[in-house]
Amino acid sequence: MNTNRRILFIVALMLIGLAIATITNVALNFRDYGYNNAIEKSKMTAEIVRDGLTAHMVNGIMDKREFFLSNIANIKDVKSLWIVRADNVVTQHGEGLQNERPRDAIDKKVLQEGKTFREVQEDARNAILRVTIPYIATAYGSPNCLSCHNAKEGDVLGAISMEFDINDIRQTGAITIAKIFAINLLFIIVALWVTHHYFKPYMKLFENLQRGIKRARTGDFSFRFTTTLKDGGNEVAEQMNTLFEKLDETFGGIKHDLSTFMTRSNIACGDPLNSAGNIIKELSDVYKFKKTIELDNSKDEIYDRFIYVLKEKFHFAHFALYEVDKTSKTRRLVYITDSKSFCQPIVDQNAIECRAYRTNSDIYSTDFPNVCQHCSAGGKEYTCIPFNINDDLALILSYSAKDTETIEALNLALPTIKNYFEAAKAVIESRTLMDKLRDSSLRDGPTRLYNRRFMEEFIDKSAEQALRSNISYSILMIDIDYFKMVNDTYGHDSGDVVIKSLAEILQSTVRKADLPIRYGGEEFLILLHNTTPEGALSVAEKIRTQFSDKKYQFGSETVHKTLSIGISHFPSDADSIWKVIKFADIALYEAKHTGRNRVIEFKAEMFKDGNQF
Ligand code: GH3
Ligand code: MG
Ligand code: MG
Repeated sequence: MNTNRRILFIVALMLIGLAIATITNVALNFRDYGYNNAIEKSKMTAEIVRDGLTAHMVNGIMDKREFFLSNIANIKDVKSLWIVRADNVVTQHGEGLQNERPRDAIDKKVLQEGKTFREVQEDARNAILRVTIPYIATAYGSPNCLSCHNAKEGDVLGAISMEFDINDIRQTGAITIAKIFAINLLFIIVALWVTHHYFKPYMKLFENLQRGIKRARTGDFSFRFTTTLKDGGNEVAEQMNTLFEKLDETFGGIKHDLSTFMTRSNIACGDPLNSAGNIIKELSDVYKFKKTIELDNSKDEIYDRFIYVLKEKFHFAHFALYEVDKTSKTRRLVYITDSKSFCQPIVDQNAIECRAYRTNSDIYSTDFPNVCQHCSAGGKEYTCIPFNINDDLALILSYSAKDTETIEALNLALPTIKNYFEAAKAVIESRTLMDKLRDSSLRDGPTRLYNRRFMEEFIDKSAEQALRSNISYSILMIDIDYFKMVNDTYGHDSGDVVIKSLAEILQSTVRKADLPIRYGGEEFLILLHNTTPEGALSVAEKIRTQFSDKKYQFGSETVHKTLSIGISHFPSDADSIWKVIKFADIALYEAKHTGRNRVIEFKAEMFKDGNQF
């Protein structure tokens, strides 16, 4: 029900209530009036009859009273009238005329009690007022009753009974009520019409305001208010129009300025005001993120912040961040929440196998069954997003969820996540350059392998990350056997040749994710990334045999050299990386003392008193 109708309904209800109250009041008054009128008439008739009968008695024409009584009975509205003699009068003056004896129980009761009886007998068609009035003997009236009657003061001498037809009054009442009803109805109709006519423009303006404000809540201020009202109403409409025009103009500008962001953001919603608020909040968050990472020292710190944002802001529970070296086409795992990688190992060795990197497009498992052939996410849904930093570097974000609904909910955050990537791009690029510059001071000149300084800077952070990401390292400690002899016999330069040739063997034997380091003069250390103990052993054997197979021509002599290797594992041997390196050293020592040219894996029993550190 609209407001106009509601007002009309309330007015109608009030007027109908008033009409019912009036009609009920009139009906009741009418009934009382008719009743009282008949009673007055009955009293008067009783007095006339008494006086008439007394006159008849005084004049000695009591036997002529029937004529008088029949005339009285003809009075309008008197349906019947009869008089009744009390027993004492009957005893003194006889039975009287016919029918002057009590006709019913009412007559008898009145004669007995001396009290007037009144009763309305009414049904649907008839309304009769029955009145029986006793005549009481008194010496003080005129004439004195006791002068003719053998009675005492207060004795009942007789009674007069009358039946009045009060139908007329009832009918008149009904007609009057009908007229009042008709007048009321007419009044209600007129009142409703006037109300409707008067309130309609206000209601229309009110509905207009409602509609305009509803549209304004969705950011649409194009609504214009109209009214036929001349008083304050048109002022309200005009002021609202001015306000809406201003809002339309101002907001149009904001909308346009933000539109570039809205297209790239999932937080733009149906309500542009809310969208603007959300976008500004997002911009502010991204800006703060950018400001923070600008002060970060290294690429890895920036990656750590990314990981934090993914976990805390976007509530990603299962994800991995990879870094692709575009030159070598290798992929490095930066971080993973789960113990098991999202991809098969081949993808790390050859980044081209990563579908997201190769196609440079977002990969959604929901698009096609088994969309990525090298995925090992099992029955889970996954999404992989490539993000190019520069010509040398790209990042891959992979995340998974147990079902389509969950992954699609996570996918909604993608535009915002890309904003974060975008904000970090320049910073990551500059940190990569810085890393490169630093890299030159962290490498050994002759072999181009990482040097000990690099290891000292790098190893703690790597170990921490490995522990967090469930990554393991096998450590190979390598030392050339009787190397001093080469120097002593063939000269220092020949010694350098042997060292360089070993460095080449190391480079070519290990995978890209592994780290060969020149640890000392002719000592080398290799960090094998995520390798099983068997795998580490086989790599070590390969190095040992390749090196021992190598021939060196020093002058006229062909020289063979051998080396010894000690192996330990992080974090299974110890959760301190430096301890594990020491264990590899102990194993190497064991290899030297058990004949050299061999690979020995660290065992707890090798860790004797003499080897304490
Ligand atoms: P072992 O089997 O016990 O290892 O015997 P070793 O002779 O190899 O003994 P050690 O490992 O202690 O020998 C280290 C020698 O390597 C001493 C040092 O002169 C030599 N050396 C260290 N750095 C270089 C280098 O850069 N070039 C050359 N030519 N020699 C180096
Ligand atoms: Mg040596
Ligand atoms: Mg040595």
